[in-house]
Amino acid sequence: MQPTIKSKQPNAATTIFTVMSVLAAQHNAINLGQGFPDFMMDAELTALVTKAMNSGHNQYVHMNGLMQLRESIAEKIHYLYNNTVNADAEITITPGGTYAIYTALTTILQPGDEVIVFEPAYDSYIPTIEINGAVPVIIPLRFPDYSIDWELVKQKVSTKTKAIILNTPHNPTGMVLGANDIEQLKKIVSGTDIFIVSDEVYEHLIYDGKQHESMLRHPELFERSFVCFSFGKTYHCTGWKIGYCVAPPSLMAEFRKIHQFNCFSTNSTVQFALAAFLKQKEKYLQLGSFLQQKRDYFAGMMLQTKFKALPSHGSYFQLYRCNDITDESEKDFAIRLTKEYKVTAIPTSVFYKNETDNKVLRFCFAKKESTLEEAVNRLMKL
Ligand code: GLN
Repeated sequence: MQPTIKSKQPNAATTIFTVMSVLAAQHNAINLGQGFPDFMMDAELTALVTKAMNSGHNQYVHMNGLMQLRESIAEKIHYLYNNTVNADAEITITPGGTYAIYTALTTILQPGDEVIVFEPAYDSYIPTIEINGAVPVIIPLRFPDYSIDWELVKQKVSTKTKAIILNTPHNPTGMVLGANDIEQLKKIVSGTDIFIVSDEVYEHLIYDGKQHESMLRHPELFERSFVCFSFGKTYHCTGWKIGYCVAPPSLMAEFRKIHQFNCFSTNSTVQFALAAFLKQKEKYLQLGSFLQQKRDYFAGMMLQTKFKALPSHGSYFQLYRCNDITDESEKDFAIRLTKEYKVTAIPTSVFYKNETDNKVLRFCFAKKESTLEEAVNRLMKL
């Protein structure tokens, strides 16, 4: 007789990104749902991968990542955030940002611990907390600017609070943390044992002259942080599934105890290519203006539709209200949009544990202008 599994995720449905991408493909819809670019990545980087592969760089690299790549990352961190991190002790290359977040949470959480999570939240955070037997303490971001109510955070912090998960620039809202948020955060964690898991995968995708408030910029925050990044978002190669985590030595030592028995080490060939490519600062410095243009191009055309934009200051997403168009739930509307109008977006209600339907859809604007134009032509029919 086949044994049955006692599920660790009894209530989990398939992630919305897979659900909507499959639906988009089935209905031949333009996929502005799952976040990935549809334009070509830099040919110089793909050439470096080919070169690395043909040079025989096809075996395991060190379980913590290729040293040259970690050194290139340390240089970048010093340049951007004026923080000298030790490439050997404080950086680990991971198969993507989501893996880095999972590993960081698994490293610190014990059953019964509380973790503060802001909603809407990227859909992996809460399942990861629960898989570890810990408890999410959910704080809603204020609608419609999605700012953090720090008074509420103060009230929710308890002796059981093990960590706070931060995400800036924020998925799905495009909100970015500012200097005041950082000051409030410092006050709250000062003198406590609270860790910070900071999802900063959109660090370069920041607009309107805003500064990315990385935990790496603030020593009193970095001392308690696992800071997670993604090359997929930086170099338009989400399918490569490669990223990294930065944390102080004692935190990173524990992270590596989990990492080594999970994936052990990350794809080696692309690490050789990224180590060289990362030295070219202008490649990542121009990303913000490149994607800001796309945001503005899309938003400009969307004015011809009944969708109403909410501000996006970062990430490659913008939220649009659809309350003038439909009374359906976001999910039903997103499905109908895919099937009937052939455009796919993500309903933001899925980023809330307790169903919250503000009639807001998330659109990914990291697409060719022709893709955005065709999508808007279809949305104008609504
Ligand atoms: N981060 C991407 C998004 O929010 C997708 C990640 C995924 O598909 N797991 O769309």
